[in-house]
Amino acid sequence: MAKEELECSFCGRKKPETNLLIAGLDAHICDRCIEQAHGIVIEESKQTDGDDLSTELKLRKPQQIKDFLDQYIIGQTASKKVMSVAVYNHYKRLLQPATKDDIEIQKSNIIMVGQTGTGKTLIAKTIAKMLNVPLAIVDATVLTEAGYVGEDVESILTRLLQAADYNLEKAEKGIVFIDEIDKIARKSDNPSITRDVSGEGVQQALLKLLEGTVVNVPPKGGRKHPDQKFIEVNTENILFIAGGAFDGIDRHISKRLNMQAVGYSASISDDVVDKDNLLQYIIPKDLKDFGLIPEIIGRLPVLTYMDPLDAETLRAILTEPKNAIIRQYKKLFTMDDIEFTITDGALDFIVDKAIEYKLGARGLRSLCEEILTDAMFELPSSNETKLNVTKMYAEDKISKTTIKKLKAVS
Ligand code: ADP
Repeated sequence: MAKEELECSFCGRKKPETNLLIAGLDAHICDRCIEQAHGIVIEESKQTDGDDLSTELKLRKPQQIKDFLDQYIIGQTASKKVMSVAVYNHYKRLLQPATKDDIEIQKSNIIMVGQTGTGKTLIAKTIAKMLNVPLAIVDATVLTEAGYVGEDVESILTRLLQAADYNLEKAEKGIVFIDEIDKIARKSDNPSITRDVSGEGVQQALLKLLEGTVVNVPPKGGRKHPDQKFIEVNTENILFIAGGAFDGIDRHISKRLNMQAVGYSASISDDVVDKDNLLQYIIPKDLKDFGLIPEIIGRLPVLTYMDPLDAETLRAILTEPKNAIIRQYKKLFTMDDIEFTITDGALDFIVDKAIEYKLGARGLRSLCEEILTDAMFELPSSNETKLNVTKMYAEDKISKTTIKKLKAVS
C-alpha cells in the first residue's frame, strides 16, 4: 500500500486527517480512536471496580491491622490498638449479611486527641490505604452552619465523593478524617456569644452525618454551582475519625484526677499519675468539659489519645517507617546514581534541633530539606557518586536564620 493511502482501521480517517497513526500487525489506529478506546477502558474498569467492592475491601484481623500500622507509624501503641479494633468492628459491621436477630452493631466512629504532628492524620491515611477505601481529610475550622460564610458540612461528603472518583458505592464505604475538631468546641468561657457560628451550630450540623443518614450532596461542592444535580449519599457505613489537639484539656484531666484522689484513696493518686502525659487518662467527660456537646461525644464512641513525641520516637521516625524521610532521600539520590549516607551524629543533631525549637515531626522534614537542598541542587550535574552527611555538614547548612524560618512555618 502506498504511504499516502494509509488510514485508520477503526474510523477510516486517512493519515493526513490524523495527528498520529500507529501501525499494528495488519491494521492502523489514529490518535482519536486511541483516546476514545482509552475512555472506554477507564469506564469499564470503573464498573468492575464497583462490582468487586466487597472483595476488594481487605478486612484484616485487629492484630494484622496493627502490624500494618506499625510499618508506617512509630510508637502510639495504645492508639494503634484501639484504632485496630474500631476499624475491624466497623468493617465487620459493614460486611455482615442482613441478620435476623435484633442486634444492630453500632458505628465505631473514632476521636483521637493529641498534639499536632503526632501522627493522627497519618494513622487515618494508613488505615484508608490498608483497606483500599477513599479518604477525605477535612478541616473542621472551615465548616460553618448553613447560611454562614464558609463551607456547609455537606462539603465533607463532596470531598469524599471526589476522593472516590464519584463512585458512590465506594464513597459510602470510605473514611472521613475531620481534623481540628477541638476548634468547634463551644466557647464555654464566653457565655455572651449568642450565635456561636463556628462552634455549637457546626457540631449540631455534624451530628446527622456521624449517626448515619442520607444527605443531598452537591457533587461539585458548595455555592458556586447552584444548578448542579444533588447526589444522595448515605453516611451509614462511612467511618468518621475526628482528631484534635484539645490544647488545655490536660487541665480538665488533672482537675478530675485530683478530685478523685481526694475522694477515693485507692484511685489514681499523685505518685502514679504520669504528669507528662495526662492525655492517657482522658475520658469522654473531659471532652464535654472542653466544650464538645454530649451528642457529638456519643457519636464518636471510640476515644483514644496520642503520646507526645520524644527524642527516641523522632529519631525512629526519621529512619524506620516504610516510607521514612531518610529512605525517601536515599531513593531520590539513587535515581541520580548517588549513594546517600547520613551519620548517627547528623541524625541526632536533626532530632535535637526539632526538639529545641519545638518543630515536632513535621519539622524533621523541613530540617532535612534545608540540609540537603544544596546537595540536591549541585550533585546531579557533578561527577560525585557519594554524599555522606555528617553532623558538621548538617550544622553548616542549618543557620540561625533557617531555624527562624522553620519555626515560623511549623
Ligand atoms: P497530626 O495529624 O497529628 O497533626 P500528622 O499525622 O499530620 O500529625 O503528622 C505529621 C507528619 O509527621 C507525618 O506526615 C509523619 O511524617 C510524621 N509523623 C508524626 N507522627 C509520626 C509517627 N508516630 N510515626 C511516623 N511518622 C510520624
